[in-house]
Amino acid sequence: MTTLLGVSLAGRTVVMVGGGAVTARRVERLLEDGAAVRIVAPELSDALAALVEMRRLPWVARPVQTTDIDDAWLVHTATGDPRVDADVAAACEERRILCVNASDGAHGTARLAAETRSGDVVVGVVSDAGVDPGRAGRLRDAIGALLREGALPVRRRRPTPTGRVDLVGGGPGPADLMTVRGRRLLAEADVVIADRLGPTDVLSELDPDVEVIDVGKRPGHHPVPQEEINALLVQHARAGRRVVRLKGGDPFVYGRGGEEVAACLAAGVAVEVIPGLTSVVSVPQAAGIPVTHRGSAASVHVVNGQAETSPSTIAALADETVTTVVLMGVAALPRLVAAATAAGVPADRPVAIIERGHTPEQRTTRTTLAGAVADAAAAGVRNPAVIVIGAVARAGLLLPDREMAGDTAP
Ligand code: SAH
Repeated sequence: MTTLLGVSLAGRTVVMVGGGAVTARRVERLLEDGAAVRIVAPELSDALAALVEMRRLPWVARPVQTTDIDDAWLVHTATGDPRVDADVAAACEERRILCVNASDGAHGTARLAAETRSGDVVVGVVSDAGVDPGRAGRLRDAIGALLREGALPVRRRRPTPTGRVDLVGGGPGPADLMTVRGRRLLAEADVVIADRLGPTDVLSELDPDVEVIDVGKRPGHHPVPQEEINALLVQHARAGRRVVRLKGGDPFVYGRGGEEVAACLAAGVAVEVIPGLTSVVSVPQAAGIPVTHRGSAASVHVVNGQAETSPSTIAALADETVTTVVLMGVAALPRLVAAATAAGVPADRPVAIIERGHTPEQRTTRTTLAGAVADAAAAGVRNPAVIVIGAVARAGLLLPDREMAGDTAP
């Protein structure tokens, strides 16, 4: 029978007998736990020698003697010689030192669990019925995958002194276009502060007692001002909660994520940013538009349509090798088109407007600079939409004979 113990090895002496692959594989894990590892072996494999050198590990370069283990809390023996390993295990037994015997797991007094970590959770797999590393590893991997997907209830029930904020980029909408890390952090969150855009579906998967605060714009409602969002993040983290600030796309692309990070840092709150697929790239992509394309577009200019049309945007529009991607640009389209026309951009420069990219309601309107304002009005184009101006916006760029699904030909 086996009892699975969570043992703290930090600062404790662990003697590893044997200089081969098994020692090399396991020493890193023990070092990560902070163990004071000493290696006893006449020779080291190349991999282990490199590790010993890099981590400056003490190495006793001769066959093992019983005095080598006297001060150990734990011994790991993997000499490749079952008799030597059995002798080490017996010497440990006499001294009441726990011993992992790699050549005969059943005759050591300890076994290493197949481990997987997710945040602050460690899950270990061992079996009562002898040693079967393949099976334990497969089970560990399956549990690890569920943990990373956020499919298991890893959330802590009580606030801790160490609240924190994670700015999670939610991508353009579908939950499976979020990062695995973002999903896990969501599953661990006590409080989720969400916007209108991004993967709102994942919110319905949260435990009922997770507090969801919607700070996004809704028709007839004003959005929560940025200072108040910053204050909310800090306040909840200081109360010991795990806060996820869920954002559409990437937190650092027109998401004011930088301001939120600065607010957390100024308040001494631990904060991390998890990138997301930005709509700058992923929404055109959903309509079959590569933002760069050999021979058509060599660079990309990204602009917030609500801002004044800057000289750099005029220059980008005028340069036929640049793709201009406009976010928050539906209302500003007439102004942009006027600026481009005044800058001498040809009237037939292709324009594509992709609404609600990566959702079932995705729609692409293909037009030109000259036709953009009238065609957008006729189609009733609304936010959220990404506007692409440049050669890559031409219908049939990749598939000359076919339109992409969801295209409307003006
Ligand atoms: N941080 C986000 C952008 C936030 S600004 C990102 O990296 O994508 C909001 C703008 O993003 C919208 O006005 C729209 O231009 C664009 N947008 C976001 N999601 C979109 C979607 N699914 N379809 C079309 N446009 C989208």
